[in-house]
Amino acid sequence: MIGREDVAGVHIKYLYHCHRQLWLYLRGIRPEHLSAAVQLGEAVHDTAYTRHSPIDLGAAQLDFVDNEYWVHEVKSSSRPQEADRAQGLHYCQQLRRIGVEAQGAVLHYPRTRRTQRFPYTPSAAIRAEADIDAVLVVADAATSPDRLARTSCRGCSFTDYCWTE
Ligand code: SF4
Repeated sequence: MIGREDVAGVHIKYLYHCHRQLWLYLRGIRPEHLSAAVQLGEAVHDTAYTRHSPIDLGAAQLDFVDNEYWVHEVKSSSRPQEADRAQGLHYCQQLRRIGVEAQGAVLHYPRTRRTQRFPYTPSAAIRAEADIDAVLVVADAATSPDRLARTSCRGCSFTDYCWTE
């Protein structure tokens, strides 16, 4: 089963959206290719900030790190979400784990031309560690967590899986 060092940005994203989604994903059920939202995300990602190459840290794949060690992430949504902050700070945690002094996360929203910065403070580090703990708790669950309310499932790539009786 997954270990601390295996927790990736996608796990943090799903942790914040739906524990059932995270649990299914951890078991290899991954219908992302069916989701229009994911396709849009990939399209925005492919057309924004193309001068940078993504950085592959194994468990973490981040868009780029600037020369002052801020992690930059390009988001497809038009408004900031709590999961975005958590994911960006998770990448900082991953970099620090391998000795890179990440200073924080800068989130870019090209659709609305917004940018948000989240410094990697001691309290942010504690939250990032707590998020990893929470992912591991979901991973260890013997049965799938309950579904969210139907209204919260809009756009989720697992909708057919969860709601087809
Ligand atoms: S369809 Fe709803 S319950 Fe199922 S994984 Fe997605 S958000 Fe969770």
